[in-house]
Amino acid sequence: MNELTLLYRGPLSSCNYACAYCPFAKRRENRRQLEYDRSCLVRFLEWARAQHNWHLRVFFTPWGEALVRRYYREAIVELCRLPQIEKVVVQTNLSAPLAFASQCGDKLAIWATFHPDWADPKRFLAQCRRLDQAQVAYSVGVVGFARFRKAILELRQRLAPSVYLWINAVKAQLDELAEEDRRFFSHIDPLYELNTQAYASRGRPCGGGSRVVSVDGEGMLRTCHFQSQPLGNLYDRQWWTALRPRLCLTDHCRCYIGYVHLEYLQMNRVFGSGILERIPSGRAPFQIKEVVVQSHSLAPMEALENHAHHLFSSGQPVLPDLAGQ
Ligand code: SF4
Ligand code: SF4
Repeated sequence: MNELTLLYRGPLSSCNYACAYCPFAKRRENRRQLEYDRSCLVRFLEWARAQHNWHLRVFFTPWGEALVRRYYREAIVELCRLPQIEKVVVQTNLSAPLAFASQCGDKLAIWATFHPDWADPKRFLAQCRRLDQAQVAYSVGVVGFARFRKAILELRQRLAPSVYLWINAVKAQLDELAEEDRRFFSHIDPLYELNTQAYASRGRPCGGGSRVVSVDGEGMLRTCHFQSQPLGNLYDRQWWTALRPRLCLTDHCRCYIGYVHLEYLQMNRVFGSGILERIPSGRAPFQIKEVVVQSHSLAPMEALENHAHHLFSSGQPVLPDLAGQ
């Protein structure tokens, strides 16, 4: 059976939040635009229904917030009921009603992001508990601004210890980030440094365009979200002829949803089957374990004492061997 991961990104670009660091904040769509987005999703769903010879994973990576739209929640439930769908993952701010999650069986996984300026922590944590009750796998991320440290720490203290909390590195501002802040982020997320890199990618094999493909609302297929050249169209009769192993055409790959498919990084060693939803694998060469942090030299890091954190047993993530890259 053929396998494929589709990164679906339709035209929807509005959000119920307005994060200052987001280019899509405050965007509003009118009824006609939303109807167009819905029709694109319906078409994608019809296509998925017909793919009996494939094992598919669908990752919704919207420009804005999709789950606040009922038609996305309904489409996800329907996708999860199709035998050819192995997994559905969605990026979300976790503000939407989550009743649909319990109808998805074990096929749904969530990439949740907590936005301290917009999300109420209590409500966010209540939403996490709803996912726990529905037995939905999820990770939680926060953008790595130093001003979010307090919120990040409180979130870490209140999230279930088994939930991976990751920090999204603000790569454009890394040079200005204090060493103390950088260590704090690594302390919260032992994989933080993996996300601070701009990985050399030009001319290197990537799963993009063969194992993984980006698809927009019109069905246009691309290697990934970061390369504009169309490869073909999902709604062509022989759409799969667009898929073949490819080398990356850009110098660097900086975004998690891209570089995890860069072959030489072997990120599957770190994330295994949780690579889309960004959940490190228990089968990784290191084991995440819950430890109580007894001491830390960074003020106000003493607040970390007596709180459970995820660290690797070695205290350090195992970084891919990047020598000579
Ligand atoms: S929740 Fe996400 S999509 Fe919405 S404004 Fe914030 S960063 Fe942008
Ligand atoms: S390495 Fe990154 S930019 Fe290059 S093809 Fe893969 S996902 Fe796209």
